Amino acid sequence: MGDKAILIDTTKCTACRGCQVACKNWNDLPAENTSFFGGPGYQNPKDLSSITFTLVKFFWSGRRGADVDAYGNWQFLKYGCMHCLNPRCKKVCDTLYKAIYQDTDGFVQINQGICQAANCNACIAGCPFGVPKSNGQSVWKCNACISRRGYSYPNTLRKDPVSGNPTASSWLIGPELAPACVSTCPAGALKYGDRSDIIALATARVADPKVRAKFPEVNVYGDTGPFGGLRVISILTRKPGFYSLPPKSAKY
Ligand code: SF4
Ligand code: SF4
Ligand code: SF4
Repeated sequence: MGDKAILIDTTKCTACRGCQVACKNWNDLPAENTSFFGGPGYQNPKDLSSITFTLVKFFWSGRRGADVDAYGNWQFLKYGCMHCLNPRCKKVCDTLYKAIYQDTDGFVQINQGICQAANCNACIAGCPFGVPKSNGQSVWKCNACISRRGYSYPNTLRKDPVSGNPTASSWLIGPELAPACVSTCPAGALKYGDRSDIIALATARVADPKVRAKFPEVNVYGDTGPFGGLRVISILTRKPGFYSLPPKSAKY
């Protein structure tokens, strides 16, 4: 427990989408019903949803054939909740139903037993990253695999609200494990640990001359900004705007 973070290193990601599958598997989420490929390139589905908490987004770099440089034709970004240090979703919900909270590791959680999505959706409008999605009853997003981090949590959908006992669909509560997506990534593009260690790792990686030679725009996103910092720290091969991300200087 403590001040934790997840690292996404886009210089290493191969877009295998193992993280997407692992997230579905651990969180017991059904597959999406999509037509062929939902988004650009092999991106599928098109967007996050109440049953897709993470999605590897594909971005065309506009380079082809002889013009291909070290970046290649496509860049990939594993997308989902950024677990903002000062989450706007929570700020708006605090004035309404108080369904959003930060767990003891600092990750942002939605208590679906309290969420009133049928007549609210304020967090969806408030999130600058387009992350939370409603199924009409409640709002869902990445929970940073809270059930793998070794302590119980007040999510009444996963525990019987009267007895407090785990329901049939409850996740395991046990010793701390890294998030399922992190544990799965075969390319070593995802890491989990103390936020200060994750930032140090990211800073060292972008300072590596070999990495800079291959990716001249490589940068760390989420350490100090945007919005005061994130708990999902990304090493981006391109500038944030390339991925349609808010600039690092963005403030509420
Ligand atoms: S599992 Fe790792 S390499 Fe594969 S898509 Fe996810 S982040 Fe990229
Ligand atoms: S990315 Fe959006 S949903 Fe996630 S913590 Fe930040 S404001 Fe909330
Ligand atoms: S941390 Fe857990 S819930 Fe979040 S994207 Fe990874 S596997 Fe899914």
